[in-house]
Amino acid sequence: MGYNDRGGGGFRSKNGPREMHKATCSDCKQETEVPFKPSGDRPVYCRECFQNHRPKRY
Ligand SMILES: [Zn+2]
Repeated sequence: MGYNDRGGGGFRSKNGPREMHKATCSDCKQETEVPFKPSGDRPVYCRECFQNHRPKRY
């Protein structure tokens, strides 16, 4: 209807412009959210599994 959110406003936090996308973890199959758009040809992991799949430091 008629409210513009151009100008004015300002109570929307700009600290978190990250858009979260729902995805299913390729490992544990739980639903998770990732800060990038799952492309489908790459496995997506939830936070816990991501830790497990992260390269180890030597
Ligand atoms: Zn997982």
